[in-house]
Amino acid sequence: SPGERRLVYDLAEGSAAMKPLLGGKGAGVAEMSRIGVPVPDGFTVTTAACVAAMEAGGTWPDGLWEEILARLDALEERTGRRLGAAERPLLVSVRSGAVISMPGMMDTILNLGISDESVVALATESGSPRFAWDCYRRFLQMYGEVVEGVPAHAFSDEIAALKGRRGVEQDTDLTVEDLQELVETFRTVALRHTGEELPTDPREQLRRAVHAVFASWDTPRAGVYRKAHDIPDDLGTAVNVMQMVFGNRGDTSATGVCFTRNPSTGAKELYGEFLVNAQGEDVVAGIRTPLPLAQMERVLPDAYGELLDTMNRLEQHYGDMQDIEFTVDDGKLYLLQTRTGKRTAAAALKVARDLVAEGVIDRETALRRIEPAQLDQLLHPGLDPEHGREPLTRGLNASPGAGVGTVVFDADTAAERGGAGEPVVLVRWETTPDDIHGVIAAQGVLTSHGGMTSHAAVVARGMGKPCVAGAGDLHIDVEARTVAVGDTVLTEGDTITIDGTTGEVFAGALELVPPQITDDFTEVLSWADDVRRLGVRANADTGADAAKARELGAEGIGLCRTEHMFMDAERLPAVQAMILAEKPEERAEALERLLPMQQADFTELFTAMSGLPVTIRLIDPPLHEFLPDLVEQSVLVQRLEDSGVTGRELDDARTVLGHVKRLSEMNPMLGTRGVRLALLYPEIARMQVRAIARAAAAVREQGGDPRVEIMVPLVGFDEELRRMRAVVTETWAEETAGADVPHTVGTMIELPRAVLVADAIAEHADFFSFGTNDLTQTTVGISRDDAEGSFLNAYVDGGILPANPFASIDVDGVGELVRLGVRKGRGTTPDLKTGVCGEHGGDPASIALFDEIGLDYVSCSPYRVPIARLAAAQVTL
Ligand code: ADP
Ligand code: MG
Ligand code: MG
Repeated sequence: SPGERRLVYDLAEGSAAMKPLLGGKGAGVAEMSRIGVPVPDGFTVTTAACVAAMEAGGTWPDGLWEEILARLDALEERTGRRLGAAERPLLVSVRSGAVISMPGMMDTILNLGISDESVVALATESGSPRFAWDCYRRFLQMYGEVVEGVPAHAFSDEIAALKGRRGVEQDTDLTVEDLQELVETFRTVALRHTGEELPTDPREQLRRAVHAVFASWDTPRAGVYRKAHDIPDDLGTAVNVMQMVFGNRGDTSATGVCFTRNPSTGAKELYGEFLVNAQGEDVVAGIRTPLPLAQMERVLPDAYGELLDTMNRLEQHYGDMQDIEFTVDDGKLYLLQTRTGKRTAAAALKVARDLVAEGVIDRETALRRIEPAQLDQLLHPGLDPEHGREPLTRGLNASPGAGVGTVVFDADTAAERGGAGEPVVLVRWETTPDDIHGVIAAQGVLTSHGGMTSHAAVVARGMGKPCVAGAGDLHIDVEARTVAVGDTVLTEGDTITIDGTTGEVFAGALELVPPQITDDFTEVLSWADDVRRLGVRANADTGADAAKARELGAEGIGLCRTEHMFMDAERLPAVQAMILAEKPEERAEALERLLPMQQADFTELFTAMSGLPVTIRLIDPPLHEFLPDLVEQSVLVQRLEDSGVTGRELDDARTVLGHVKRLSEMNPMLGTRGVRLALLYPEIARMQVRAIARAAAAVREQGGDPRVEIMVPLVGFDEELRRMRAVVTETWAEETAGADVPHTVGTMIELPRAVLVADAIAEHADFFSFGTNDLTQTTVGISRDDAEGSFLNAYVDGGILPANPFASIDVDGVGELVRLGVRKGRGTTPDLKTGVCGEHGGDPASIALFDEIGLDYVSCSPYRVPIARLAAAQVTL
């Protein structure tokens, strides 16, 4: 019954299975406790409580505070300590923790429970007043920022000023007296910003802290992160209240972060960082540049050994690479977090393959875990390994890949300039979660501080952005908008290249080369091929694209746009001559010139795709697209007239203008294009069919195996296809007389009417290829090119549409049409081959629908072929 709905759970009640309720962090800590890994005790406020509070505009659900107080009493009981007490004080952390992890995007408050009374007790019992006061100043800093909204710099400026006055470099060089002074200063700072004294009652502080953590679900940066990662906005966060353990207790204490494998490459090796005498945030927020984990063996050998064992155990237990937070409190190891490690695509493939080889998981599980869209990263160009250039400087290779762009010094500028299409590299002293929008818009990230496990690095790896971190030789002057290394000074707007694979930084733009396909890629995608039903082809217009597509696993070409061959600068004169021809003989002559050009293209395609089907679409766009623009041509004529030019030049310009006027249409998208054009000028289609037939015959002669599929675009009436098919068949027979060169004829289905009469159209079709780009435009009545900048974004952001229908298929509308078209078509022609050749062919969500509908294949751009192969496999798992 609702009355019994629990809003808070003790650590001991939780488990990994309760992740939806406890969030990833809470469930992870509970699970570790369950299997005997040492973790601090605590309790978790559920995500449901947060959602209820959000829905009520911030008002907590009934009984929440009472439940929290009861769980706190129980925690005090178990630990024998009391929050804020003058003797045996309990200190806790109040940690956000969503179901889907969003590293560093939400808030956490540490050391809550420290007060004027408990700080003395903590000093006495630890024997280290310095440690106690360090906790106090840290608490005021985090509490002030997160709960009371004091800007972070207001505190860090004071620390910097004090260090300056004392002439020391590190926070750890500050004395007890310095820290006591800071505590006073911080209170004043908070008072100045909020106009109120900070509350001194730790229970009141706890109440406000939980409230603030709930609210941190809704910060702009968290929203930006969710949008970038397609995470729903209504999940809410859990809140974990956990007893503090102290990495800042002195030289026998430390805090760190580690991964069970290298999240950049996937290699099974030590990967992590730590800091002696520090608290968690110091490492993950990039405040101090931490030390490589291997060095912990020397300073804290026992805890180090135990950590390695625990890492192993956790990886075995979860069967996946883990990202772990730990703290050593006076020699004793505690784990504070474990989660599935965010990794680059290369690492995802290697880890998957290795875990299968190690017998930890099976192939299906491995395939299920890889995010199809992530594979795109592997297909980006990288630095030429032979570049032979001297780097300007080096940092940590925090996230692999090459980034070339102009230097910018803050996230807003990166978002602005990067968003406008300029490649930028974000250069920062360190990056914080607040920089997320800049990271998204940048080609890469370069920092002078911070380590490989900093939030910035984790986020960059998750997005596949190159990152070089902790390049300590960089002198960044944000005010002057410059970055200097030795004598070299770069100004905002100068170009740099970063190599996140090696950690090198170069002035200027280095040349990029196509990526290498790795064994891991080939192997894991071959597993995908073993299980998928749906075929995957590529859209390609040239032999080079076709060869690339085949290398990436395409099983044919689903769409070759022949008009792309017309757009070539060298050929355009012949195309224009054809359009401008006054007499049939002139047109025939221009077509005669085009024929060998097209034939050469088709020969390349058939050779590259020998043995696999190649769908060639006859000319589609309206003819005016091959002529100059109406306005430009009018201006040209006007100019010639004004300057008194007469004769041939003016006549020609006027002729062209006349044709442009004759051919231009109010709404060319719905005008004389596709089959309509081919029926008006059958000689164009004939020329194309001739070129195709001759190329096929030639390739066959040379021992190749062309599999030709001729596709007629924009059919809406079955009579159109009947006539066009007759033209194709007749021409084909003329060209291949005697030689039996197989081919099929089909149509694109891209008009709603074509779907409705698909049974009649199928009488004349061997195949249907759903052109879902145009089918979407003609079904939803939205022009793709016009809408994206305007209302469509607002529709998607405002939740009127679940997604951009040009990126992900409109399941209920266009998807239903595809389903109907297939059913009707197959009703007439049972062995009708069916496929999709729109953008949707490379979109995982759309692929799931196409598989369910039972299409034979999808076709997408060559670089999306691996994504489609994996997505098509995942639907079957
Ligand atoms: P985030 O999601 O930003 O990493 P966390 O809740 O994990 O936030 O906490 C921030 C840092 O504080 C982490 O390094 C974490 O290990 C550390 N931390 C959190 N709770 C405790 C605790 N009870 N004792 C010691 N350190 C803690
Ligand atoms: Mg944080
Ligand atoms: Mg954390």
